[in-house]
Amino acid sequence: MLARPLFIGSEIYRGSSYGGTHPLRVPRVSTVMDLSRALGWLPAGAYVNSPRAKPAVLTAWHTPEYVAALQAAEAAQAVTGAVRARHHLGTISNPVFPEIFRRPATAAGGSVLAGELLADGGIVYNPAGGTHHGMPDRANGFCYLNDPVLAMLSLRHHGAQRIAYVDIDAHHADGVEHGFAGDADVLMISVHEENLWPKTGRLTEDAGGSALNLPVPRGFNDDEMAHARDGLILPAVAAFAPDAIVLQCGADAVSEDPLPHLDLSNNAHWAVVRALMGMAPRLLVLGGGGYNPWSVGRLWTGVWAALNGFEVPERLPAEGEDVLRGLEFNGNRLGRNPPEHWFTTLRDQPRGGNVRQEIRERVAYLRARRGV
Ligand SMILES: [Zn+2]
Repeated sequence: MLARPLFIGSEIYRGSSYGGTHPLRVPRVSTVMDLSRALGWLPAGAYVNSPRAKPAVLTAWHTPEYVAALQAAEAAQAVTGAVRARHHLGTISNPVFPEIFRRPATAAGGSVLAGELLADGGIVYNPAGGTHHGMPDRANGFCYLNDPVLAMLSLRHHGAQRIAYVDIDAHHADGVEHGFAGDADVLMISVHEENLWPKTGRLTEDAGGSALNLPVPRGFNDDEMAHARDGLILPAVAAFAPDAIVLQCGADAVSEDPLPHLDLSNNAHWAVVRALMGMAPRLLVLGGGGYNPWSVGRLWTGVWAALNGFEVPERLPAEGEDVLRGLEFNGNRLGRNPPEHWFTTLRDQPRGGNVRQEIRERVAYLRARRGV
């Protein structure tokens, strides 16, 4: 059993960009590391430097041809038309960039290491992980590798048989679902915006009995997430009695995110984290989407606080404020005149509201189907 929660990070994420116009041009994990250090939340004993996964580790799920193509793309900083067609590398959503192999292989290496670190129980946080769209032989939706799948295989390899995967990113976890469809020892729960890319994960799609998909309408608020959490996620996970929980905690379902259209505050994510703690002997929390540099940094730093039971201060100390004031969001209107609280706080104002009937009905349908 780990003596304390561990944070897996790396300096490779600092300054790495998918390119000047890509949503993943913004810093994310480096902000979480800097903010956590500024708050005194990341002592040496809590921080683990992420190893880079070797190709032989990645081929536990990805094809050798695809892994070789990723490495070749990094070396050449270019791909052929045949590679683009076959592996979807060098596309608008999955461009060739300087660390196209090293960065995702480091995130994956962290998630695989987490499975090992959790062999005897505990809590691990790998905010660079959560790339839930990656497919065995191709890049997909900003994801080159699928570290959640690799983490779950690693957890299994190290003694966890039954795994609950909970995904509160605004997008459907299509890659993870592809990886574990029909696996009776896996329960996958995905809450995501309906009709948003990749448009999979409809209410009635159950991945051979392994998945509960809750598509939610635009404007999904904190009270609606609380209803999904208490009405579906927690009872389904409790009934499943997992040996391990993997939480993909994508930060793109908050109001300030420029891509989806949901209306959560970061309180919603932190409440899911806290609720899942203690429901299984092993807990791995991953990042995911999130394209506003301030909301991602604040949300994911608050996740680390939740995992440790640290109290989030009303106002950040000057060192923390400096981290947030140093961020830029070039090319987005949200970067022109950020509100003051994006610099001075971690916690958003709660965004409650009505729990709409369609959400109540969908939760009730899934709960009945699962028999919980
Ligand atoms: Zn997403």
